[in-house]
Amino acid sequence: MANDALPFRYEQHLVTDEDLLGWRVERAADGRILAVFGPCPNCGHLTRQNVEESVLTLDYAERAAGAGEATPAPLPPPTARMTRICDCACNVAHANGSAKPVMSCGSWWLVTIALDEGAVVPVRAATDASLLPALRAVQEVTTAEESRLRSSAEKWIAAVTALVGLFGLTGVVVGKDAFTGLSPWARGCAGGAALLAAAFAAAAITQSYRAAYGWPVVVDLGNDQLLTTWFAGRRTHLSQAAAQLRRGVRWALAALAALVVALGCIWFWPRTAPAGAFVEVTRADDSTVCGTLLDSTTERGLRIRRPNGTVETVGAAELGPVRIVNSCAGGTG
Ligand SMILES: [Zn+2]
Ligand SMILES: [Zn+2]
Repeated sequence: MANDALPFRYEQHLVTDEDLLGWRVERAADGRILAVFGPCPNCGHLTRQNVEESVLTLDYAERAAGAGEATPAPLPPPTARMTRICDCACNVAHANGSAKPVMSCGSWWLVTIALDEGAVVPVRAATDASLLPALRAVQEVTTAEESRLRSSAEKWIAAVTALVGLFGLTGVVVGKDAFTGLSPWARGCAGGAALLAAAFAAAAITQSYRAAYGWPVVVDLGNDQLLTTWFAGRRTHLSQAAAQLRRGVRWALAALAALVVALGCIWFWPRTAPAGAFVEVTRADDSTVCGTLLDSTTERGLRIRRPNGTVETVGAAELGPVRIVNSCAGGTG
């Protein structure tokens, strides 16, 4: 090998099966493909390429099944092979003009790995150039994987907070006191509408957040068929995200309408009994009258409506202690 390594130059190297004859596949104990390695077809130095069998991406919707594709005769079918981009990483200094030497000759090429562990030629030259955009996308996603997940998670935290806050809001609208004195019909109307509002709002938030930030999923790219399918799905995700956003807005409007109905039931449904504290009046003979206080019709006396509807008048002469009570449990006096 020459002392002077080839100058660095970033370009695709069109490989042949012969170029990759010395290439081998590195597998985990369970047979999973970890990496491929062999001499760089351009500079001849040993290089190694890690292989990701799956990537973490953000799923925007269910993907349509990918269409089948014609298979070049000599290679295994797409489901039995895995194509990847190899970048020379020979770790040998290659001159780079006047700049600092680069630890790579800069060439990249496509390899097709046979998934079958018993394949005679494990690594071959790729013939399907149409995979290149998808392979570039894999590289992109792989390098940004962690930051994408993190930022997606951050956004979802806000979504979860919004969901929890929603229950607080419905709690205020349909608080315990809001039902005091309401007829069962009004309670049913308000409670049902508030429940619907919560459900609609949850759907709205989930849909719009999914549209905006996706749902983190691990996608299996273990063979070329799966890769093509994944890439086809990626390209349609924009229109799917738009549809999700539209659905999200509609759900939000429905939630708002349901909340308005719930509020209407609480505010405008006639109440059967006036809200207010009960009074318990003890007469001089120790008998008690409990109920709600009414306007007096005479100057010296209290009028009290018992819970059963009868109205009693307690004159000033027989008036004993008066207490404010929360309810009229117990005797009728
Ligand atoms: Zn090299
Ligand atoms: Zn090289």
